[in-house]
Amino acid sequence: MEQWLREHEAGAIALDAADDLRALRSRFRVPLAKDIGGRGDGECVYLVGNSLGLQPVATRAAMEAELDDWARLGVEAHFKGAHPWFSAHEEVRGMLSRVVGALPREVVAMNSLTTNLHLMMVSFYRPTRERYKIVIEDTAFPSDSYAVQSQVEFHAPRAGFDASRAVVRLKPREGEATLRTADVLETLDRERDSVALVMLGGVNYLTGQLLEIGEITSFARARGVVVGWDLAHAAGNIDLRLHDDGPDFAAWCSYKYLNSGPGSIAGAFVHERHLHAGAGLPRFAGWWGNDPKERFRMGPEFRPVESADAWQLSNPPIFALTPLRVSLELFDRATMPALREKSKRLTGLLERLIDERNARGPGKPVGVLTPREHGQRGCQLSLVLPGDARRAFSALQARGIVCDFREPNVVRAAPVPLYSSFHDVWRFVVALDDALEGGAAGGGT
Ligand SMILES: *Cc1c(COP(=O)(O)O)cnc(C)c1O
Repeated sequence: MEQWLREHEAGAIALDAADDLRALRSRFRVPLAKDIGGRGDGECVYLVGNSLGLQPVATRAAMEAELDDWARLGVEAHFKGAHPWFSAHEEVRGMLSRVVGALPREVVAMNSLTTNLHLMMVSFYRPTRERYKIVIEDTAFPSDSYAVQSQVEFHAPRAGFDASRAVVRLKPREGEATLRTADVLETLDRERDSVALVMLGGVNYLTGQLLEIGEITSFARARGVVVGWDLAHAAGNIDLRLHDDGPDFAAWCSYKYLNSGPGSIAGAFVHERHLHAGAGLPRFAGWWGNDPKERFRMGPEFRPVESADAWQLSNPPIFALTPLRVSLELFDRATMPALREKSKRLTGLLERLIDERNARGPGKPVGVLTPREHGQRGCQLSLVLPGDARRAFSALQARGIVCDFREPNVVRAAPVPLYSSFHDVWRFVVALDDALEGGAAGGGT
């Protein structure tokens, strides 16, 4: 290891010692390096909370308690369980609303993310012959592209527009990796009469860019454009203010930064202004969107409850809601502003160490796709590796680093404030430097 890097270890340890949130790490199951293909006996450096968050220690007991309630009480657990199933989704509502900066009645935990995007578009994408376009990012997550394209094709024959021209993809300028807000606004202004919906990622999954949610939302709304946000990479990462920023809807998954387990239940936000009975939105309905007072009258008429629950179709999957509840309790304890503050410092350290490595040479520099300003990114940095990036990535894995690789040469690394330490960040940069200099055969752990 280079001497300058060795000298940074004490600083990282001191930052951990001074960190008020450091005890939260012990509330997570951090995989061991040797279990995931690395060397050494210690814990791995887990930098993929942007892909699948770690398991909270309390999740297992909470799941077992639900299994026990089912075994002991059967159907009676709907009302007599420790966390009655009848109102289980209501139990998470307050905590969920605090994570995304919404009013409690504006959020609901339901379905999966892509399903929720479709359900939201049923209500909020109502194209006409003249006004039919959907604006997304050119680097939108594939599922979002497919969802949007299929919505467009669903509506095009009846509304009478050309589906092949309906999706507008925002591209960065030549030679740039991320979008400029001014360019986003310029497109929205230019296309103002033909755009029906703008649906962007709050934090881009590939570049880590945080878009200016408030500014883009109010600009679009002032031009009569409906606004939805995909917050898959923002929920639990950014201190969102959905109610104040005022988009029409948003949706997110909970297995990334929200640590609720693979494929776990997603979330949706519908702004308060759409929740009153007369809002007149078309909606696909199911019995769990009915007013709970009416639900068990089992009548044929749908009376939507005046909350985001009106979009809920089915009785919720308890074995998916339970891990969400457990995880949200940790967010509630830590609070989003405190987590965001630590997150900025973790990612700031990662950036500084990489800059220093680049400045000292002699190796080729590591590039950073993610914007430099904290206001334009969350915890993730998307790094462009020089040379044989695949080989360097394998070398990182062998050293117990878990990050992810996107062809041809991008490594995404996301230190997460709930469980990543400053020392983890330091270990990552040591391993990265080693991997780039020494290749897969290099030593150390
Ligand atoms: C992770 C992610 C998805 C995944 O969708 P699922 O429906 O949960 O499988 C979709 N969109 C974005 C932007 C994502 O980051």
